[in-house]
Amino acid sequence: MRVSDHTIEPWLREILRCPRCKGELTDAAAADGLELRCAGCRLGYPVDSGIPVLLVDLARPLG
Ligand SMILES: [Zn+2]
Repeated sequence: MRVSDHTIEPWLREILRCPRCKGELTDAAAADGLELRCAGCRLGYPVDSGIPVLLVDLARPLG
């Protein structure tokens, strides 16, 4: 099976929650790959080699 930076396994995304508000995250295309976005916090969490980095300190504020 091929590992891709551009998809997140459905079962994994299912259990991912925003560390700040515990809200659901949606994956979206970012400038440098993929990110997980929290609509409530307006934050985008980076995905490093397919591994979501759910740290508020590393999140990107969404315009
Ligand atoms: Zn949030």
